[in-house]
Amino acid sequence: MEIIQKPEEMQAWARAKARSGATICLVPTMGFLHEGHLSLMRRAAGLCDLVAASLFVNPTQFGPNEDLDRYPRDFERDMALLRQEKVAAVFAPTPDLMYPQGFQTEVRVKELATHLCGKSRPVHFSGVTTVVSKLFNIVLPEVAVFGEKDFQQLAIIRRLVADMNIPVRIVGHPIVREADGLAMSSRNANLNPTNRAAALSLSTALQLARTQAAQGQMSTAELAVLLERHIHSFAGTAIDYASFVDCETLEPAEMVDERTVLALAVFVEGKAGKVRLIDNGYVLPRQEG
Ligand code: AMP
Repeated sequence: MEIIQKPEEMQAWARAKARSGATICLVPTMGFLHEGHLSLMRRAAGLCDLVAASLFVNPTQFGPNEDLDRYPRDFERDMALLRQEKVAAVFAPTPDLMYPQGFQTEVRVKELATHLCGKSRPVHFSGVTTVVSKLFNIVLPEVAVFGEKDFQQLAIIRRLVADMNIPVRIVGHPIVREADGLAMSSRNANLNPTNRAAALSLSTALQLARTQAAQGQMSTAELAVLLERHIHSFAGTAIDYASFVDCETLEPAEMVDERTVLALAVFVEGKAGKVRLIDNGYVLPRQEG
């Protein structure tokens, strides 16, 4: 497994592989890897000849009062985990290499970035779409895998690639959960056992919405009242949003139908300050195919 820091070296690696006829699948991450990330690596290995992972805690997608400094990091552990997967190269640049002096370009998807997380994190998605555009130009992949855990991010990246004719196929991968239903996240490392119990408010809210809808409660306003009460019954939780939206446009849904996704963002008390957790899922069972 090669570990590459410099964008031009990564491009040279990718070009050499392309010349030898190999296809590359990119898996972008911010590190502190867990089973969810590793599941993305395995998916990627089945899609192309070579997997390239990127590991970069991208400063431009964090707002001024967010957890950039508290974001968990452990480079050596991450490398050890990736070595056990079929990962051919890791692109792990420093912020200076990605944003050298004079950098001033921003890539922004307009409408989709205004919903959900975009409301409380106004700079987040332009940071994401800018860095992902750079990663595509540096790693030159045929395919890139993103987790459905970051549901809005995935919708925005699909839009970016379509709008800009970027020749990368985007593959979404289902949410990987702990045995008790908690969606895996690097930020879970900032929870102690009590906080972790409160973190279950998200996945159980999703279950509650599904049960209620299965019993015929399709009004999202009525469901929202139940969900709010449910989430607040866990100590130390504060809801950023609990929204029923269309799976592609992210526009609010009034009544649940097969396109409706419940998207959740909840602050829970953490070891050192509040931790913002997200989760989502379709409310109605998905038809196969
Ligand atoms: P992050 O390191 O949090 O930026 O995540 C890197 C990639 O892994 C993103 O595409 C995430 O959506 C994905 N990811 C993170 N957690 C999970 C999870 N529990 N299940 C599936 N994908 C995930």
